[in-house]
Amino acid sequence: MGGSLRVAVLGAPGVGKTAIIRQFLFGDYPERHRPTDGPRLYRPAVLLDGAVYDLSIRDGDGAGPGQSPGGLEDTDAFVLVYDICSPDSFDYVKTLRQRIAETRPAGAPEAPILVVGNKRDRQRLRFGPRRTLAALVRRGWRCGYLECSAKYNWHVLRLFRELLRCALVRARPA
Ligand code: GDP
Repeated sequence: MGGSLRVAVLGAPGVGKTAIIRQFLFGDYPERHRPTDGPRLYRPAVLLDGAVYDLSIRDGDGAGPGQSPGGLEDTDAFVLVYDICSPDSFDYVKTLRQRIAETRPAGAPEAPILVVGNKRDRQRLRFGPRRTLAALVRRGWRCGYLECSAKYNWHVLRLFRELLRCALVRARPA
């Protein structure tokens, strides 16, 4: 048994949080699913590098832009999702990252943050070059960066793998 990890998938409404989680867990992509009207919790067991991990994946926090997301303190790893065609959703990710830093209890281990630009299939409508955004996030914010398409299941598995590997390395005693 590998252990347990609490993951929160956060971002503005409509960026594709539920679509990403559903692709990862169930391999499906309903064009329309019911909007998430509050935090939703999934508790899958996943196999990573030969070990089984009990995950708890929180889909959103029930708070929209302008409201304070809750439950940031007791999370081991964060996926902050934005839509590559929506600059506002990127701004919201910026706010979330600050909130996470502010609410982290003193002495708590740093939780890895992976910023994910979703809807990569709509590449022609993107608001900024991938290189610029990736450099800002990686060098400026010191977070991971990845783009994916939940619709075409492109890089969805990879994003969870990268996040979990990163969380496990940090959780391991030195
Ligand atoms: P959430 O509010 O962040 O959970 O967003 P949803 O998962 O409900 O997705 C919002 C809308 O974006 C839905 O209509 C999805 O079908 C659509 N969507 C999600 N992921 C993608 C994607 O990768 N590409 C495209 N083109 N649309 C997507």
